[in-house]
Amino acid sequence: MDNSQKFNNSHMFKHIDPILANALNLELIRQQNSIELIASENFVSYGVLEAQGSILTNKYAEGLPSKRYYGGCEYVDMVEKIAIDRLKALFNAPYANVQPHSGASANLAVYYAALEPNDCILGMALDQGGHLTHGSKVNISGHWFKSHFYGVNPQSGLIDYDEVLAIAKTVKPKIIIAGASNYPRIIDFEKFRKIADEVNAYLMADIAHIAGLIIAKLHPNPFPHAHFVTSTTHKTLRGPRGGVVMCQEEFGAKIDKAVFPGLQGGPLMHVIAAKAQAFYEAGQSDFINYQQQIVTNAKYLAKTFLSNGFNIVSGGTDNHLMTIDLRNTPVTGKIASEALESVNITVNKNAVPNDPQKPFITSGIRVGTPAVTTRGMQEPQMKLIAELIANKLYNLTDQTIHNKTLACVKELTADFPIYENFLLERKASIKP
Ligand SMILES: *Cc1c(COP(=O)(O)O)cnc(C)c1O
Repeated sequence: MDNSQKFNNSHMFKHIDPILANALNLELIRQQNSIELIASENFVSYGVLEAQGSILTNKYAEGLPSKRYYGGCEYVDMVEKIAIDRLKALFNAPYANVQPHSGASANLAVYYAALEPNDCILGMALDQGGHLTHGSKVNISGHWFKSHFYGVNPQSGLIDYDEVLAIAKTVKPKIIIAGASNYPRIIDFEKFRKIADEVNAYLMADIAHIAGLIIAKLHPNPFPHAHFVTSTTHKTLRGPRGGVVMCQEEFGAKIDKAVFPGLQGGPLMHVIAAKAQAFYEAGQSDFINYQQQIVTNAKYLAKTFLSNGFNIVSGGTDNHLMTIDLRNTPVTGKIASEALESVNITVNKNAVPNDPQKPFITSGIRVGTPAVTTRGMQEPQMKLIAELIANKLYNLTDQTIHNKTLACVKELTADFPIYENFLLERKASIKP
């Protein structure tokens, strides 16, 4: 994409200064014109954008609904109560706090509520699909707690629950974290709870990636098994960038105090309004269809990758994502993700289990379908995308294939437009 393009301030961002608006316009066009396969990304509705861009950003509301440290909170109280009630209903959760600014903040709130410094925690290893906040040394969770890890079986790519139990018995964690950023199969929260009970640990389920699938009953609900459940609101849930904590009733007061004043100051009421809107949308039947199509698309994409000679960690997927293991190809994760970016296909490089390459290089790419499914793409488009990827990666330096792929991506994204109300750049004339 040509980043030297300049715009008049005549497009979508009409109240923003031209220099900043230029950057925002370029990003809008990037989103409209590329195939987004980053598994953690999505495109929110106009409703979510409207709520998040609202005057609620002006309001300080430290505290909780009806228990605030500031005046004038009557209406933001309504907003936050709506968000809490909708969230609890979606997950059958006994208790919920919708204030965490992000998934990382939500996880930290649970640790702050449930643990003391130097307590032992057990999570999924980062290079096996876990998240930085599950005990990585470079994260506060690995610095302030004694972190231990379970992984996946190197042959099957699946979590080995007997191994999790064996590790738990040895390290005696105070909390076990069940959840992943890159695990393509079903997580058995009931089994995790049994393990937690055997070693007298809390169970925390981090459903950041799979929240939408859980709402649609395409993945088992962590309730009633987990003591704590954390999530982001911006991945399959398709809401604003943010986090939430849910828990069993008995931990509610502790979680609230951990979020504020423990970790955060004033809540982002405009974001909480956008969460409430996203939870409303997630309660509609369209959302169930959307989640079903995410999984159908992921399975179809995996099938086409396999028939094009790629290996996939665990052999396929049951959810919204997969990792292509590139070790039988000439490319690394880094080279593959850069090559695909050059044809406007966005993925992220990702370690495969026991990856021989460094984290900055990796031997895999992670691919997910939530964003392309939001655009309305279905099985025929998945097949085409997998073929475009295969063709590009097997012919890295072929300029004809490069140009053909770019043209195909342009056509495909034009056929499945997003944010048409804003700016259809491909039809607008842009002044240099
Ligand atoms: C994305 C993710 C997070 C962190 O969310 P942020 O909003 O980026 O802080 C935490 N846990 C898991 C499992 C995730 O996938």
